[in-house]
Amino acid sequence: MEMDEYDVIIVGAGPTGSTLARQFSKNKLKTLFIEEHIDIGIPQHCSGWLSGCPYTERLIEQVPKNLIRQKINAWRIWSPEGKKICEIEDEGIGFGGWFVNRSGFDKFLAKRAVRAGANLMVGTKFLDLIIEENVVEGIFVKVRGKKEKIYSKLVIGADGSKSVPLGVASKSGLPELNKKPKEYYPGVQYEFINIKDMDPGVIEIFFGSIFDEVFKMAFVSPLAEDNAYIGFGKYKDYVNTRKNHPILKDRLKNAQIVRKMGGLYGVPLNTPLKRVSRSGLMLAGDAAGLHGIINGIISAHICSEVGIEAIQEKDISEQKLKLYDKKLKRNSISKVSIGYDMSNFSDEAMEKLLNTQGRNITEYMLKGISEFGI
Ligand SMILES: Cc1cc2nc3c(=O)[nH]c(=O)nc-3n(C[C@H](O)[C@H](O)[C@H](O)COP(=O)(O)OP(=O)(O)OC[C@H]3O[C@@H](n4cnc5c(N)ncnc54)[C@H](O)[C@@H]3O)c2cc1C
Repeated sequence: MEMDEYDVIIVGAGPTGSTLARQFSKNKLKTLFIEEHIDIGIPQHCSGWLSGCPYTERLIEQVPKNLIRQKINAWRIWSPEGKKICEIEDEGIGFGGWFVNRSGFDKFLAKRAVRAGANLMVGTKFLDLIIEENVVEGIFVKVRGKKEKIYSKLVIGADGSKSVPLGVASKSGLPELNKKPKEYYPGVQYEFINIKDMDPGVIEIFFGSIFDEVFKMAFVSPLAEDNAYIGFGKYKDYVNTRKNHPILKDRLKNAQIVRKMGGLYGVPLNTPLKRVSRSGLMLAGDAAGLHGIINGIISAHICSEVGIEAIQEKDISEQKLKLYDKKLKRNSISKVSIGYDMSNFSDEAMEKLLNTQGRNITEYMLKGISEFGI
């Protein structure tokens, strides 16, 4: 069965997709966004930290108060041997950011898009692109067990980190799609209750290969006085940390896991893709190889600016949409990645570096976050 023609179809109703849907609808374009799950924001796969930057401070004003979990005021850094290196307070620079209830936040953004006029289809899975004479003209979806076609002038892939190995990006035929699943870092994240010595408002970064053989660090993200998220490479790293880490073995002694998150296609390791558009198609957020909630939302704004103009001018050619690639490259978000591969950095070298340069490195990193988020 064939379905209506839209001006734009957006695949994915995460923060990137919902922001795109709202922007196109606000400009009176006929917009559809689809989500494979039946409930927006579920399953939750992320801790919901909105990195601190001027954009976040404006956005948080609009987020319902009941979705805000914790404001971050300081960062504390620990060395692999368990030495506290420094604690840096946010004195108005704005690098702290906010933890939000991620599922609720996704729902809030999706509802805003629908209120702006976008059509939302939940329980609708993207299968493939419809490509005619080298132009993307719509998508094949599976909905209520049936395969259907939906046509549009423009398709945008905002289907998250599995877009490259399995989703819209994988079907796009874009030249640089060399990211295999192994280049996505799975990562697991647990929410703990009864964790000791938590300081709500302080994000702690613990360095060391014990947490994870690639990133060699773990974030302890506070939610309340005895409640935090901690990320690890694999389950075995968590077990090892609990048994052997000089500081956390004591703090986790009575802690219990109340939630598990993360999965196969967690975090893109390289950012961003070299090409993020072709005739009739654009990619944004994790699907474009960017990383982070705020980066995804900012990429959605840049993407919609170019996409709206292209539809209004009836020119969705590769040449026209390439402007998005250019604008994205000029924006600092394209230079940021959480996914640093530190495999070659030993614990001994890190201990030495942190002991001599720890504060400078942390200040440099936090200044970067306050300028453009992550
Ligand atoms: C363990 C973990 C913790 C993280 N913590 C943080 C954090 O604290 N702060 C931060 O900024 N970032 C964090 N991230 C990264 C963050 O989750 C992503 O960068 C962010 O979600 C990207 O938003 P997005 O809208 O581009 O993609 P997503 O949020 O992944 O949304 C994509 C949407 O597309 C849907 N979809 C996928 N395939 C299809 C399909 N075939 N058909 C229809 N719909 C489809 C998905 O169901 C999903 O709803 C974390 C990641 C992980 C793995």
